[in-house]
Amino acid sequence: MTKRVVLIGHPVAHSLSGAMQQAAFDDQGVDATYELWDRAPIALPDAVTELRGDDFLGANVTIPHKERMVPLVDRLTEEAHATGAVNTITKEGKRLIGHNTDVPGFRFALDKLVGKQKMPRSAIVLGAGGGARAVVFGLITEGFQRIIVFNRHLHRAESMVKHFGRTAAHMELRAMPWHESIIESELAKAKVLVNSTSIGLTDDATPIPAEIIPPELLVLDLIYKRTTFLRDAEAAGCTVSDGELMLLHQGAAAFTLWTGKPAPLELMQRKLHEAREGGLRSAEGEPAGDAVAAPSAGESTNGSSGTGESSGESAEGEPTGAASPD
Ligand code: NDP
Repeated sequence: MTKRVVLIGHPVAHSLSGAMQQAAFDDQGVDATYELWDRAPIALPDAVTELRGDDFLGANVTIPHKERMVPLVDRLTEEAHATGAVNTITKEGKRLIGHNTDVPGFRFALDKLVGKQKMPRSAIVLGAGGGARAVVFGLITEGFQRIIVFNRHLHRAESMVKHFGRTAAHMELRAMPWHESIIESELAKAKVLVNSTSIGLTDDATPIPAEIIPPELLVLDLIYKRTTFLRDAEAAGCTVSDGELMLLHQGAAAFTLWTGKPAPLELMQRKLHEAREGGLRSAEGEPAGDAVAAPSAGESTNGSSGTGESSGESAEGEPTGAASPD
């Protein structure tokens, strides 16, 4: 029987994951299809029930559902539990296991960025959404001793810091208000800067002005493209990297969890490039706006192209991005 793996999000029409996962299944002789399921939040419990069927191998989960999936699965891995977010589901019979492969994806990208240097101990994180949760947990488990989180809506950063309370008890994890002067003074004390906001995903906007980026930082943008932010940081003398490796390695980890096989990384990377050249704008997540049509709950798209996983809600279930109340 051909097995099914689905990406559940809202919207998902342009997801990059389909391109790399279907190619990996085909290359490794795994008889499976990767489908895109656009499901509004209200339809999520039914989608989860359907996943328990024998024809399903597992799923990917994307915004706005990563946090909402936590209580719907039967067991969480340590990373999913710690981050409070699920991006991959595997099966044990009819039981659903929730994983978070964004964490190893981020750690791989960070290791590459740091290279042969000693792992730094101090980081600034911009953003407090699902991606930022994986980033903060990845930094904590890499041994960082000081992490400062800035977010447009301070309360969301504060909730995230509170969520990590026990995990971060041995170190300094703080949320601070998004003021340029505060960001500037904190950047002077940090070695790593991560943009995990979606600013710059669909236009040339940048989260912070070029003038306040000091030289010699290690700078990572989760967005899978050369953003203005990365260009500014490079011009300032920083070492920079985009979100490609994180995307690739979260996908590779998921592939291995579903199939038990090592992922064909080169092929998956090539497929990501091709998909991006085919007109894709985002790596993993694209702000939902009025322009995004919301397909009906039962609608399913079979396919392997593009990206476009929607920003839509915070961990607390409140609208963000284009749907933001402000
Ligand atoms: P969320 O919707 O959960 O969070 C979005 C974040 O961006 C929030 O911190 C939000 O702030 C902030 N933000 C959005 N618009 C603005 C704005 N105009 N001004 C200030 N802040 C803003 O999304 P995710 O965390 O899942 O994704 C964030 C980014 O990371 C996306 O670009 C996504 O593509 C990328 N990503 C990449 C991955 C990869 O594998 N490379 C993996 C996961 C994410 P607020 O809370 O105040 O609304």
